[in-house]
Amino acid sequence: MSVSSFVIPQPPQAAIPVAGEGKSFPVRRIWCVGRNYLEHIREMGNDERAPPFFFAKHADMIVQDGATIPYPPLTKDFHHEVELIVALKSGGLRIPAEKALDHVYGYSVGIDLTRRDLQIASRKKERPWEIGKSFDHSAPTSPIQPASKIGHPAKGRIWLQVNGKETQTGDLEQMIWNVPEIIWQLSQQVELAAGDIIMTGTPAGVSQLQPGDKIECGCDGIGTLKVTIGQPA
Ligand code: MN
Repeated sequence: MSVSSFVIPQPPQAAIPVAGEGKSFPVRRIWCVGRNYLEHIREMGNDERAPPFFFAKHADMIVQDGATIPYPPLTKDFHHEVELIVALKSGGLRIPAEKALDHVYGYSVGIDLTRRDLQIASRKKERPWEIGKSFDHSAPTSPIQPASKIGHPAKGRIWLQVNGKETQTGDLEQMIWNVPEIIWQLSQQVELAAGDIIMTGTPAGVSQLQPGDKIECGCDGIGTLKVTIGQPA
């Protein structure tokens, strides 16, 4: 389809810079894993034996390293969740776990920003999670490190600081469902494709953010991400 056949201007392609490449990774879909570290499940008072489940954010909710993120509307309990992000270079339906890493382009570290009060209210009413999870600027991420350079990290410290004070810390090896298992599970329910990214769940220590907060987070071998929380939009 040629550009001139669109009736309105074509929306911009969401993308994440690739570290050291001078090029970007185009984002098709953002999937997120709920409850993937035992200590976080315990701090939220949820069922430790439940299988993983998935929710989504939209590609244009990506925020780049160094950005200021406006404090979002409607919430009084805005939370950070630092997470390993997996970026896919190919996909498919029903990908076996033992083939899953063949589809991975690389990794970044990001934050699943959450309006916790709205998420919990929607959960109590058995409504979808969108209002709590899927909102403007809710998916900041570091540049992507290609797996061709760093391999496929299965362990390594993942951490987040607010104003220089560490609030979250964990290790990738504490994930209940590892990256191959997440790709296997998610590909049972949707066909994955090049450009999809997956936020793989957060370790314990989630806490509330306020306007003016400076966040720095990272994951060993992958990189760091800095964002600032700005005034309400
Ligand atoms: Mn999360």
